[in-house]
Amino acid sequence: MTKTIVWFRQDLRINDNPALSAACANGDVIPVYIFDDTVPEKAQLGGASRWWLHHALVDLAESFDNRLIVRSGNCLEQLKELVQEFDATHILWHRMYEPWARTRDAEIKSHFKDSGVAAKSMNGSLLWEPWEVLKKDETPYKVYTPYYRKGCLSKSDPRYPLERPDLSVLLGVPKDAKSQIDKLALLPTIAWDESIAATWTVSERAAGSKLQWFIKNAITDYKDERNLPAVRGTSQLSPYLHFGQISPNQVWFAIKDAFHGNTSGAGVDTYLSEIGWREFSYYLLYHFNDMQKRNFNSKFDKFPWRDAQKDLKAWQFGNTGVPIVDAGMRELYQTGYMHNRVRMIVGSYLVKNLLIDWREGERWFWDCLLDADTASNSAGWQWVAGSGADASPYFRIFNPVLQGEKFDKEGEYVKTYCPELKDLPKKYIHQPWEAPAEVLEKAKLVLGDANDESAGFQQYPKPLVDLKESRKRALDAFDSIKGA
Ligand SMILES: Cc1cc2nc3c(=O)[nH]c(=O)nc-3n(C[C@H](O)[C@H](O)[C@H](O)COP(=O)(O)OP(=O)(O)OC[C@H]3O[C@@H](n4cnc5c(N)ncnc54)[C@H](O)[C@@H]3O)c2cc1C
Repeated sequence: MTKTIVWFRQDLRINDNPALSAACANGDVIPVYIFDDTVPEKAQLGGASRWWLHHALVDLAESFDNRLIVRSGNCLEQLKELVQEFDATHILWHRMYEPWARTRDAEIKSHFKDSGVAAKSMNGSLLWEPWEVLKKDETPYKVYTPYYRKGCLSKSDPRYPLERPDLSVLLGVPKDAKSQIDKLALLPTIAWDESIAATWTVSERAAGSKLQWFIKNAITDYKDERNLPAVRGTSQLSPYLHFGQISPNQVWFAIKDAFHGNTSGAGVDTYLSEIGWREFSYYLLYHFNDMQKRNFNSKFDKFPWRDAQKDLKAWQFGNTGVPIVDAGMRELYQTGYMHNRVRMIVGSYLVKNLLIDWREGERWFWDCLLDADTASNSAGWQWVAGSGADASPYFRIFNPVLQGEKFDKEGEYVKTYCPELKDLPKKYIHQPWEAPAEVLEKAKLVLGDANDESAGFQQYPKPLVDLKESRKRALDAFDSIKGA
């Protein structure tokens, strides 16, 4: 009799779940989640991810009528115990691509191979396995467009999503998943999550609804609107994709099917290629595995980063005095999410205007983002810093005022997250320091420290650095490593 442990990891869904479907088709199933608290420090989940994970596990447990086994600790030890307890014959899981997870999983596989239990990994989170896409000379691509267009799209279609399996085959698993999830203590002890909870519904069903909404209402305009942070022009699927509450295959084929295979429209093609960027990030992590720590371009190892804790804090909490940067950092803090265009702007400001190491930004995002993902986060930061594969060149420095004026023309996004600026005229919304005294007074705004006479006025910081001077400083710093 086949009894399979399905080990859930970053695939917290029932639909299109190859491991679960294979197990259900084969005999009895024991669904398991293990919170691995033995992972390296850099991989320990940040606060926002822990919050999402809690709710995603509750949702998964509900799909199993509360019969999900939830454990914590060393995964090998836990699996050994579970194999004994349930007399399991097989273990199935979907691959993870983080270097530490690959090492751990290889050890687990090898242990069970020797002990006669069939332990097998499958692809459940990527459209194309990283080792399947190589250049003609069998080396990995380092540039996105040929990777995606030549490498991926020229291959046969990815796997079509699977139907929901019949879950009547769950083996005598007790119905106490929810209390086991509570024991993981993933939720914060200080309630900072109210506005996050008000923004997101964490469930497999919500992921599907978001995708359907996006296909119906936004995908055709995606190419134009994806850069406008005040508009709901993107899918906001990233945390669901990270935790596997929806698979890239479901996204890919829902779109293909909706457009009857004709995906050449600008919005659709652009959106699918963003899914391609997700694949590329995993690809880079797989082939060049210390992307999270080390500069892809080793020239940057000698870069003269500043140790500027006060500036870093001001950036983290949205107090730099540059409205689009502050709005982005406050959006992150309040909602656990930040619009992609704004991620690029705040990243450029940190790394170039403040000359602070991209790894500081990566860490902060890791703690605050609900979609915090080793592959996409490190690739995103290295792209911004100019140190990554196919990165934005370091000398291309975003001017946050011009970026704001171009992508948040009316200042709506800034006003949402920096409400103290709401009465400033459009002309000054992205550069309040240029506003004449009478304009500031009319908007009831004080820049810098407020004094006694400014009762009833709102306060907003003066700019931390001069944008022109800090741009020049960044270019000089870059010049210093050019020959390295
Ligand atoms: C500095 C920086 C850090 C980032 N950190 C993360 C991270 O930790 N986790 C994360 O998922 N994304 C990260 N991104 C990529 C991107 O910002 C988010 O994926 C996107 O904003 C999520 O919003 P969305 O789901 O509405 O995206 P959409 O525009 O709707 O795109 C659909 C999906 O494609 C993928 N995608 C889109 N853009 C990118 C990209 N540039 N790189 C990789 N995948 C992409 C995501 O899975 C996304 O959900 C980062 C980008 C930057 C510049």
